[in-house]
Amino acid sequence: MYGSTLKALLLAASATRALASCAHGTFLQPRAEEGGEVKVGNFGYIGRIGPLNWAALDSANTACATGTRQSPIDMVDGVFEILQGSDVELTVNDMPDGAEFENLGTTVEVVTQGGTLTANGKTFELQQFHFHLPSEHLDNGTSQAMEMHMVFQSAQQEIAVIGVYINIADQAAAAAAKRSRIMGRQDAGASSGAPTTLLETVFSVVDQIATPGTRVKTPPLVMSEVVDILKANAFQIYSGSLTTPPCSEGVNWHVSTARLFVSPQTFTKARDVIGFNSRFPQNTPGQPNILMISALGSAAAAVQAAVNQVA
Ligand SMILES: [Zn+2]
Repeated sequence: MYGSTLKALLLAASATRALASCAHGTFLQPRAEEGGEVKVGNFGYIGRIGPLNWAALDSANTACATGTRQSPIDMVDGVFEILQGSDVELTVNDMPDGAEFENLGTTVEVVTQGGTLTANGKTFELQQFHFHLPSEHLDNGTSQAMEMHMVFQSAQQEIAVIGVYINIADQAAAAAAKRSRIMGRQDAGASSGAPTTLLETVFSVVDQIATPGTRVKTPPLVMSEVVDILKANAFQIYSGSLTTPPCSEGVNWHVSTARLFVSPQTFTKARDVIGFNSRFPQNTPGQPNILMISALGSAAAAVQAAVNQVA
């Protein structure tokens, strides 16, 4: 009930407002026609427009402060349903002519050219992938250098997101140890810790979109490398939310146990453009929203103060 009301609100809001978020390019925030203006987000990560205030920025963002299945969260070992990558139907089209790479102000995003993820018997179409720095999900309480979000949408307008941690190549040894612990085995694919070619290629031109609202064409992108890495690992599954306004819930999260890598030079180059764009970790799914706890705490304190004054 609440979900459908929220969806109606969101659809109404998306028709009139241009937001840039994890849901950019989906039904929540349709992308402008190709060659059109790159819309820049109206939210941010610090101060008045930061995550503590997202709900106050727009009535469509209520879930950011009240939702009880919000993302990101701490991915604690053994808590989540595990889906082996080899059991997941995932395809992503290569982009031999390159792809549009946009600076949305709140992230940098690659507009993809086809790809599908089949989950829960439903097929989701890949819309885009973008980056957070540092990671939004935590690996057993630990933040990683970056996180890539691959955003998919179904014909029924449901959203699925694959989240993948990105480490700096120098961290390879530590990451490999963590991966083995999570998986209980030695993984194929990214275990070398070598920089991921896709990321090195995408970020080779990130300095050309240093200004929010700008775009550039990437060199040709080969996606099979990342697909193979994802398939050689596993996904931790949970139902959460967009990590950006409007924080809509019902998002099918697939947080990969894989690691992608960037060279230290590429990390620095990406950081200089992306800056800080990570929402603070949310409460365990099903528990009250952290902002509600804090609001209730303040209200209780105010009542107690008034009682003390009367007494
Ligand atoms: Zn995201």
